Amino acid sequence: MKRLKKNPDSGRRTQSNPDGDSYNVLRDPDWTCGFNSMRLMGTLVVFLMVVSVLFSVSAVLKDPPSDSILDSKEATDFQVKAEKVLDSAEESFHSVKVPKDELSGGLIAAGFDEKSCLSRYQSASYRKKVLHRPSSYLISRLRRYEALHKRCGPYTDSYNKTVEQLKSGHRPASSHCNYLVWISFSGLGNRILTLCSAFLYALLTDRVLLVDPGVDMVDLFCEPFPEVSWFLPTDFPLKSQFDSFSQESPHCYGKLLKNSTSNNSKGLMSQSFVYLHLVHDYDDHDKLFFCDEDQTFLHKVPWLIMKTDNYFVPSLFLIPSFEKELGNLFPKKETVFHFLGRYLLHPTNPVWGLITRYYNAYLAKADERVGIQIRVFDTGTGPFQHVLDQILSCTMKENLLPEIDRLLPMTSQSGTHISKAVLITSLGSGYFEKVRDMYWEYPTVTGEIIGVYQPSHEEYQQTEKQMHNQKAWAEMYLLSLTEVLVTSSWSTFGYVAQGLGGLKPWILYKPENRTAPDPPCRQAMSMEPCFHAPPFYDCKAKRGTDTGALVPHVTHCEDMSWGLKLVDI
Ligand code: GDP
Repeated sequence: MKRLKKNPDSGRRTQSNPDGDSYNVLRDPDWTCGFNSMRLMGTLVVFLMVVSVLFSVSAVLKDPPSDSILDSKEATDFQVKAEKVLDSAEESFHSVKVPKDELSGGLIAAGFDEKSCLSRYQSASYRKKVLHRPSSYLISRLRRYEALHKRCGPYTDSYNKTVEQLKSGHRPASSHCNYLVWISFSGLGNRILTLCSAFLYALLTDRVLLVDPGVDMVDLFCEPFPEVSWFLPTDFPLKSQFDSFSQESPHCYGKLLKNSTSNNSKGLMSQSFVYLHLVHDYDDHDKLFFCDEDQTFLHKVPWLIMKTDNYFVPSLFLIPSFEKELGNLFPKKETVFHFLGRYLLHPTNPVWGLITRYYNAYLAKADERVGIQIRVFDTGTGPFQHVLDQILSCTMKENLLPEIDRLLPMTSQSGTHISKAVLITSLGSGYFEKVRDMYWEYPTVTGEIIGVYQPSHEEYQQTEKQMHNQKAWAEMYLLSLTEVLVTSSWSTFGYVAQGLGGLKPWILYKPENRTAPDPPCRQAMSMEPCFHAPPFYDCKAKRGTDTGALVPHVTHCEDMSWGLKLVDI
């Protein structure tokens, strides 16, 4: 590396050393009082040397002269060293301060008012490991979406113009801004899943997502996009019809298809808005939404109004025209809900208070956190012995919780003293009481110390009480902060927790005939939610088909044999 040694800068700095030998500086007692400042200067000198060296090497490597001064081995050696210097510099930079826009791996845009939504920035410190990184393409598409939202969102010129056209009932020849309106519908877990599905569909089709605030969406979720609201204005002209939209509505896509013939397709072509009925009871015509041909038609409609209670993302992966874009957005298929959920869903300050107070009081100090989400779809009041048996059998067989020793005297507890906090969520308190009492009355065979906690027992699903859904959202979020998760089959409440947490839960099989299933549970293939009511139709061949057998990354769910979910094979 002749050229590097000849670096004029580095030569001059060596001469500035009075002894011509840096070791003498340290040995000479007269220098000791000036040692700190010398060390500082020394550090500066080394830093400048590294910078100048890096600069020289980068110039050489970028634009090597024809009579290359560096032989290739020297160049490689030096480049490795230079990269190490840069890496350690980067590491120390990150350990000092993580820029806000770096949070959530760059998912979240900079420029939000921190106090108005504390969870947006504080959540990172409650999540232990970053297991997945969003693709740079996803990040760039989110920034592009935010720009679109700012240009077309509520009360912008484009929005006002498009609403006027909607009121007039005429469809414009072309529109700068197209919209997807999400109707608030169904339980909170379902709503969270459908919101993410709708947003992905909006991303894929360059539409602006507008969210019907319903009765409680504003209380539950912060604004996810900078500057312009995602909530549909209350004076939106079709708002009063949302509740009555059904398969029978004249603007329902399935109904329009049923009424149209090849010589009467004009009605279909002139719609200023189309209602998409993607609720679990939808029929074969509504399901044509998942065909490419139909997407081509829907692309021209400025307003799409969607009602759904399903996580329909897996079927979007089966639409050929979306395939490439989805592959770029999500190189790891099972991260779709994980990233979209973390990008869109930030608990409001009151909900964040419920989450953080509970976490800090009961969960933070434990060595490990285990979440158990219990949702019983059987009729009758629990707790049921077979459900309790199933939970205990699953957690013990899979070594998630320790067995108890009914014979060991209380005083002779030995072994590991690892503490585990078990977070149980359920509408009733019966299962929690039984598990808590069991670990209070008997020691564990391992010596582990088990604390059992349940934030609420609301008894039944409620719609009118404001705090009810705030607690439900807080509990889904708390479950997502655990390291090990057990969930109930068929429950969207559990899907939200696993997806946000990036966890592959142990799923409790659905009991049949009030008997604990054997095996009691299995670990999920992926952290993705299950699409409960997918279409079974081959759009190209125009006949029924098993859509869970077409591509390896869309397969049937563990907890619902006819459902579809995304997996990485
Ligand atoms: P799913 O029915 O299990 O798919 O979940 P949803 O969230 O869609 O609907 C169930 C609703 O019941 C929730 O939104 C809550 O209102 C309520 N709920 C069910 N389980 C719990 C629970 O463990 N804790 C709380 N707080 N509410 C629950």
